Amino acid sequence: MRVVLAVLALLLAAPATGGVIDTVETRIDVRRDRAEVKLVLSSAVPWRVGTLADPWRLALDLDGGDFAGLGADALGEGVRWGVVGPDRMRLIVDLPGPMRVTEAAMSSADGTIRVTVTADADAQASLPEESADLDTPPSTREGPLLIALDPGHGGIDPGAQRGLTTEADLMLRFSQEAAAALRRSGHDVVFTRERDEFVSLRGRVNIARAAGADLLISLHADAIESGDASGATIYTHATQDEDALTQELTARQARDDLLMGVVLEGQGDRVAQILVDLALLDTAPRADAFADALAGAIEAAGLPLHKRPRLGADFTVLKSPDIPAVLLELGFMSDPRDLANLRNPVWRRQMADALARAVDTWAVADRANETRRRR
Ligand SMILES: [Zn+2]
Repeated sequence: MRVVLAVLALLLAAPATGGVIDTVETRIDVRRDRAEVKLVLSSAVPWRVGTLADPWRLALDLDGGDFAGLGADALGEGVRWGVVGPDRMRLIVDLPGPMRVTEAAMSSADGTIRVTVTADADAQASLPEESADLDTPPSTREGPLLIALDPGHGGIDPGAQRGLTTEADLMLRFSQEAAAALRRSGHDVVFTRERDEFVSLRGRVNIARAAGADLLISLHADAIESGDASGATIYTHATQDEDALTQELTARQARDDLLMGVVLEGQGDRVAQILVDLALLDTAPRADAFADALAGAIEAAGLPLHKRPRLGADFTVLKSPDIPAVLLELGFMSDPRDLANLRNPVWRRQMADALARAVDTWAVADRANETRRRR
């Protein structure tokens, strides 16, 4: 497996063929109260945007962006670019003061990114100084586990909404409660977001990988328009979505990502895909084992489970080749009982405790299997 992962890392770091910047059509316009960026690329690539403080800058990260042949200051005064990770470029635009991102979209048709930032005295930096590094090796899994908690949605993507309650806020709150339960069990936690901000789906996986997480748990409570789904559902990766409920959720995720202009999957070459599949062969049974443990812990706590609690889906956050990943739908905001539960701190605490117990159960079995595999 180690050999395969090494080859995979090389492939991920291979020179990109898409995302070549068009310096003629690209426009960067910075004014005192507002800045606009129109970045024209030869094809769509995964990207994210955010701000950095002290001094204030706009940062645009592109996975597979190709700025080769472009001078360091070719885009004008106050605009720089550099490599911040394997296959990741960062474009930096100096800003005159605190600003926040008010518009960000990529046209999936032609790879044009449009970003607007607007002056805001209360703005906070939305990006870490260093971008997540794709090349950090997975942890060796000794000692306490590092659990990556991924509160779904955030920022310009609120997720499901019922009244004043948004899925993004609920999941942010639950991620903190789950972290407290995990820490009580002696585990460490890393978050893909800790405030109301937008993080791309692939960006979430990158954060977990960069931290060397042992397990990635994505947290959602979506609303479903069709049928009457209720209770908790746990997803692991499958190349085919298994039922109508899953198809609706997958379609929604894809639509959200297009809306935000992020992550187009399936553009890698076939060899890379085969290597990802091979890596998943090793990781998938471990993710399935955790999903089973989680369903068992939720049921044992007497909390409602969906009639088919274990499902497979082709969600982007489940496609980390070397970290077992599950997506937990705690319940559905479209179901009145689930919504009341999700809003109830006592119920959430029971769910957080069940999640921590599932991690404990899984950790023991997983380490035993690891020892067996090494022999
Ligand atoms: Zn969701």
